[in-house]
Formats: sequence, C-alpha cells, structure tokens
Amino acid sequence: RKHPLPPLQGVLLRFQHHHCRHCHLPGDQEWGSARGMVDDIFDETYREKEGPKPPMRYVWRNIILMSLLHLGAVFGLTLIPSAKIQTLAWAILCFVVSALGITAGSHRLWSHRSYKATLPLRIFLTIANSVAFQNDIYEWVRDHRVHHKFSETDADPHNAMRGFFFSHIGWLLVRKHPDVIEKGQKLDLSDIKADKVVMFQRKYYKPSVVLLCFTLPTVVPWYFWNESIVISFFIPAILRYTIGLNATWLVNSAAHMFGNRPYDQNINPRENPLVSLGALGEGFHNYHHTFPYDYSTSEFGWRFNLTTAFIDLMCLLGLASDRKKVSKEVILARKMRTGDGSHKSG
Ligand SMILES: [Zn+2]
Ligand SMILES: [Zn+2]
Repeated sequence: RKHPLPPLQGVLLRFQHHHCRHCHLPGDQEWGSARGMVDDIFDETYREKEGPKPPMRYVWRNIILMSLLHLGAVFGLTLIPSAKIQTLAWAILCFVVSALGITAGSHRLWSHRSYKATLPLRIFLTIANSVAFQNDIYEWVRDHRVHHKFSETDADPHNAMRGFFFSHIGWLLVRKHPDVIEKGQKLDLSDIKADKVVMFQRKYYKPSVVLLCFTLPTVVPWYFWNESIVISFFIPAILRYTIGLNATWLVNSAAHMFGNRPYDQNINPRENPLVSLGALGEGFHNYHHTFPYDYSTSEFGWRFNLTTAFIDLMCLLGLASDRKKVSKEVILARKMRTGDGSHKSG
C-alpha cells in the first residue's frame, strides 16, 4: 500500500486508528449500535460462487417502459423552448423535492440511519419519495444495504464490475443475480419494518406514484397557469422523472468509476464532484462507502451538497436530530492509512 506520509507521523496515526476505542473514536460496530443496524458495513467474508455466471434474463416489460420513458424525455427536451417560465420553475421544484425524497429520505435516513427524523419530516420525505418513483422505500433500502455490504460483487444489485451500462440502468432491465436475492433476504430490515410511514407507503405505493410522480406535476401547471397539457406532462412529469433517475444512477455508475479515492484506494467508489452536483451531494462516494454512517456523505459540509443543508435546516427547525458525523481525526487517520494521497493535491 502506498503511504504518503513521513514514516513517524504515519505510524502515530495508524496507532491512533487501531486504538480508537481508547481515544474515544468510534469504529464501525460502535456506529452500528448508535444507529441500531450494521448491515451497510462491507462484509469481507462473502465470496462469489465459483464457475460460470448464471445467464442474464431480460425483463422485457422494463426494457420497453424505460425505452418509452427516455423517448418521452427527449420529446420533453424539445418542448422546453415553448414552455412557460413557471412550468420550468415547477419542474425544477419537483426535481429537488423528489431528489430529497431519495437522498435525505431513502438513502441517508432509512438506508443508513445517519440521523433521526420526526414524524412530520418522515411523512414529507415519504411523499417526496413517491414523487421520485424509484421503488418504495423498503425495497430501495434493501437494495442499497446489500449494495454497501457486498459492493462490487455478484450480491451487489448494481455491481459496477459488470460495467457502466449495467450499474447505471442495465441492472433494472434484467433479473437479479441469485446472490442479490439471497443476501437481500438475510438482511436485517427490522428498523424499516417498524416504521409505520414506510410500510404505509409500501402498501399504497402504486396509487401514490400515479398521483405524486405523474398526476400532480402535470395538473399544477395546466390548472394554475394554463400551460398546455402536453408540455405539463412531458416536462415536469416525464423529463423531470427521467433526469431524477439518471442523476441517481450516476452515483452507481460514474461515481464507482471516475474520480479520486482519498479515503480508501482499495475500494471502487470515487469522489465525483459532478455527480454530487446532479445528485444533491451524493457523489462523494469514496467517502460515503468508507463512512456510510456519516449523515453528510462528505467531509465538506454544504459544498455541492444541498441534502446536507436540508438536513441541517430540518435540525434547526426541530424536525430532525442526532446527526452522525465522523470526526476530523478519524477522517485524517483513514486518509493516511488507506487513501490514495490525492487529498494533498486538492
Ligand atoms: Zn449509501
Ligand atoms: Zn455505491
């Protein structure tokens, strides 16, 4: 392993890391007990099965629907010059709300338990989550925890070792690898099952998506400022939804391939500021896979990270609390121990 530090300093920091219990720097397990779950921590014991991989089985329904959706989004793009300015502002608002339902909701709150949210905030995030239509929260959390626990293996739903296309959208167009299903069933999801708001969304997921992802975004511009129904449907609903999907998928594809690895050079996820920009702060992905319990998914606060600003605002309003944050000392020690040294150049 590359070691960017002078030997003595490096030894001291490594000492500090290995003795974190004595200097009160929590390790993965302690973060786990603070959050009530550890199933997003990488499992080094898992081994892929030997022999040929099972054949890919296409899910034609999804292939057709995704193709139509993207064609519709391209049509939506061509309509932008004829849209009213209020309609474009509304589409952006729908995008931001839906993205927060994923980033602040199903990702940072429910998958990683990196902060606590009161009932009103959980209701808001669940509504926002249905605007985003990326499977219900329960399913999203299950897929995301196996993604962290078995990253870049057969048991990772969007295993980036299978290439950009697979980790971006392809994984939704074929049947899951049997190991994803097997490991997903063994995950501890008791905390999710205990959340009545999440289970309510799961029960009424389809109608909630029809209403919140497609109908509401379409009706508002048509009703309130007489936008044409075609533009109302194809920009705030179809185009906005498609952009939201692709912004999320870039975290699984681009942020697992392009960027520096200042925290752990032995894993694939990378720091990608462009992805952070599009996904409201979720592109600091080398940091995030190294410290999945950090509510900010980055050490840089609000920089390219609207989701962190949102969670901080919610805390200020008394709607959220108990934000988990990794200390500067632990981050620095980890950079010295396993990073690629890139943090020094920028
Ligand atoms: Zn995550
Ligand atoms: Zn990832």
